[in-house]
Amino acid sequence: MMRQYELVERVQRYKPDVNEALLNKAYVYAMQKHGHQKRASGDPYFSHPLEVAAILTEMHMDEATIAVALLHDTIEDTTATRAEIDDLFGPEMGKLVEGLTKLKKLDLVSKKAEQAENLRKLLLAISEDVRVLLVKLADRLHNMRTLDHMPEAKRLRIAEETMDIYAPLAGRMGMQGMREELEEIAFRFINPEAHRAVTARLAEIFERNKGVLTDIEKALSALFEKHAINAGVKSRQKKPWSVFRKMEAKALSFEQLSDIFGFRVVVDTVEDCYRALGAIHTTWSMVPGRFKDYISTPKQNDYRSIHTTIVGPSRQRVELQIRTREMNKIAEYGVAAHSIYKDTGGKTNGAGHAISKETNAYAWLRRTIEQLAEGDNPEDFLENTKLELFQDQVFCFTPKGMLIALPRGATPIDFAYAVHTDVGDTCVGAKVNGRIMPLMTELKNGDEVEIIRSKAQVPPAAWESVVVTGKARAAIRRATKNAIRKQYSGLGARILERAFERAGKNFTKESLKPVLHRLARKDIEDVLASVGRGELASTDVMKAVFPDYKDERVTQAAPKQREEGWSKIRNAAGMLFQIPGRAARKDKDQPRDGAVPIRGVRGDLPVRFAPEGAVPGDRIVGIVQPGTGITIYPIQSPALQAFDDQPERWIDVRWDIDERTKERFPARVSVTAINAPGSLADIAQVVASNDANIHTLSMVRTAPDFTEMLIDLEVWDLKHLNRLLSQLKDNSSVSDARRVNG
Ligand code: MN
Repeated sequence: MMRQYELVERVQRYKPDVNEALLNKAYVYAMQKHGHQKRASGDPYFSHPLEVAAILTEMHMDEATIAVALLHDTIEDTTATRAEIDDLFGPEMGKLVEGLTKLKKLDLVSKKAEQAENLRKLLLAISEDVRVLLVKLADRLHNMRTLDHMPEAKRLRIAEETMDIYAPLAGRMGMQGMREELEEIAFRFINPEAHRAVTARLAEIFERNKGVLTDIEKALSALFEKHAINAGVKSRQKKPWSVFRKMEAKALSFEQLSDIFGFRVVVDTVEDCYRALGAIHTTWSMVPGRFKDYISTPKQNDYRSIHTTIVGPSRQRVELQIRTREMNKIAEYGVAAHSIYKDTGGKTNGAGHAISKETNAYAWLRRTIEQLAEGDNPEDFLENTKLELFQDQVFCFTPKGMLIALPRGATPIDFAYAVHTDVGDTCVGAKVNGRIMPLMTELKNGDEVEIIRSKAQVPPAAWESVVVTGKARAAIRRATKNAIRKQYSGLGARILERAFERAGKNFTKESLKPVLHRLARKDIEDVLASVGRGELASTDVMKAVFPDYKDERVTQAAPKQREEGWSKIRNAAGMLFQIPGRAARKDKDQPRDGAVPIRGVRGDLPVRFAPEGAVPGDRIVGIVQPGTGITIYPIQSPALQAFDDQPERWIDVRWDIDERTKERFPARVSVTAINAPGSLADIAQVVASNDANIHTLSMVRTAPDFTEMLIDLEVWDLKHLNRLLSQLKDNSSVSDARRVNG
C-alpha cells in the first residue's frame, strides 16, 4: 500500500507547491474511517481509495481532486458524514464527496433504472463539477482492474455498464488511455472468447511482422534525421476491442483489416509536425482519403494530431499520427491534462485548502455535456467527437428515471410504444420536461417524457407516418385495424338487431354460431364485421338463421310511410343517438320516453351530417352507412328516398343538446343575387351580422344579370337559419334565398 509521504511525493513531482496538509489530512481521515474494512479481494479497503488517488496522480490532477479520491467512499461506507467533511475540509470538498456518494448509490439499483440514473446523474454531476466525474472514472478503472474478485453475477453487469457508459465518457473527455483500458477489461469479461481470440491473433501478427515494423521505424527515423527533425517514433498496436468492433461493424475478417499497425511520431513544435508530414509524403505515396489534419481543425474534445496513411517501405499500408508532445499529453489524458497547467488562481476555503477553480477544460467539458444534454445541435457535436454511445440515438427518461433509448427523430409516440404497447395504444398526450407538448415533437437527449393516457383512445392511423420506430408502426397498424373491425362489427350487430326485430325475432350473437359455415365466415365477429362493411346482407343472415324467413321489403316510398317507418323503429328499439349540440328541446310529437342513449357504440360509430346539413329544430333520421357510420338527414330530405327499401338502416335519432355547449350546425342554402360588384360582400355582411358562418361558397350558375350560389352555413338552429334566410331575402342584392332540401 502506498505510504502517506509517497503520495505527497508523487503529486510534488508535477506540482511542487502542493498543499501537503490537505493530502495528509485526507489520507489519515480516510484510513481511519475505513479502519479494518476489507475489499472482496481481502485487501484492506483503504487500498482502494488510495489506488484511485494514484490513478489520478498519473493524470497529474490537483490535490483537491486527489483528496476527494481518498475520501470518495467515506460517506457511503463509513461513519463519516457530509457535515463532518464540511467541517474538516470545507463545504466544497464536502460537496464533491457527496456527489460521488450519490453516484455510488446508483450502482445498486436494478439494471435498467441503474443505466438511466447513472447516465443522468453523471451528466448532472459533471455540469456541477467535472472533478466528480474524474474521480468516478478513476474509481471505475480501479474496480475494473480488480473485477476478478467480484462475485461472478456482478462482473458482467459492471463490465457492460463500463462499456456502455464509462468508457465512452472517458473518450468524450479526451482520455484515450483511460478509455482504452476500460474497454479492454470490459471486453475481456463481456466476451471472453472473442477477447482471447483477437488478442492471440494480434500477438501472432505482431510477432510475424516484428522485422517489418523495425524496418519501418528505422526508415522513418532516418528520414527525420535527414531533415533535421527531432522526432520520437513509436509503433502503435491496435487494441483488441477496437479491432473486434471494426470487424463486427464492417463484417470484415481479421486479414481484411489493413490498419492493425500504426506509428506515432512525436515532435517538438507544430511547425515540426508539418515538416515531418512533408518529408513523409515526398518519400512515400499517401493513401488518398486517409489524410486528416486535426491540428488546424481540432476535434471538440481538444484532440489535435495529423493523421495520414502511406504505402510504406515494404509496400504495406502504414498509419501515421503526427503530433507535438503537448498534443500527445492531451490525447492521452484529455480534460485531465489541462487541469494542472491552468490551475493557478485557486480559491482558499475556510479550512485553508486550495480548491482549484474551474479550468478552461472543465468549462469546455461542461459546455459540451450541457450541449449534449440539451440536444442543442447534437449532430455537430457528435460528428466532431465520435461518441459511440450517442451517435444515432436519443436517450429519454420516464418520470421514474428509466432510460429509454430511441432512434434520432423519435416522437413521444415512439417513446410510449417503447415503454409498452399498451402505453402507446392509450397515449393521448405527452409532457416533455413537465410541459404538454405536441405528440409530433422530436425528442432530444435527456428529455423526461410523461405519457398521458386514456382508455378510450384508439391510435389514429395517421400516426403511422409520424413515428420512426418499427415497433410503434406495427402496433399502430394493428390497433387501427382492430378498431376499424370493432366499429364494423358494432355496426353489423346494430343492423342485424334491427333486421331481426322487424321479423319479430330476438337477435342473439349465439344464434349465428350454427350457421357460420353457411355464411362462409370463420367466427361471429367476422359475420358482424361483414354485415357492417356491407359485404354481407342482413337478409342473407336472416335466411341462414331462419330458413323459412320471407324477405318483406318495403316497396313503396312516400313521405308519410317513411315517417311511420321511422316512428315504428324508434318505438320498437327506443334508440337515441346523441349529437353534441346546443339547447335541449322537447318535441311534443316525439316524447323522449323509451329513448335511451346507445352505449358501447358511442365514439366508435362515426356520425356525420348529410351534405345539405341538419340543424336543431329539424326532425332528423339516421341512416346506417355500412362501412362508414351513420349519416344524419333532415326527415324532409328527398335523399332519404334512396333508403326506403332498407328499413333496417333507419335509425331513430334526436337532438340531445346541452345549453352549455355552443355548437353550430351545417345547413346548405341557395342564394340568387344580382350580378353586380359588391353583392357578394352584401351577402357575407348579412351572414356575419346574423352571427352565422360561411363554411364554403360555390357559384352554381352565373348569368349576365344574376348569380346563383350554394352556401354551406354554420348556424345555431332552425330558428336562426330561418331568420337569416328572411334577412337575406330582404337584402336589395338578393332576389331569392332558400334552404336546399329544406
Ligand atoms: Mn470506490
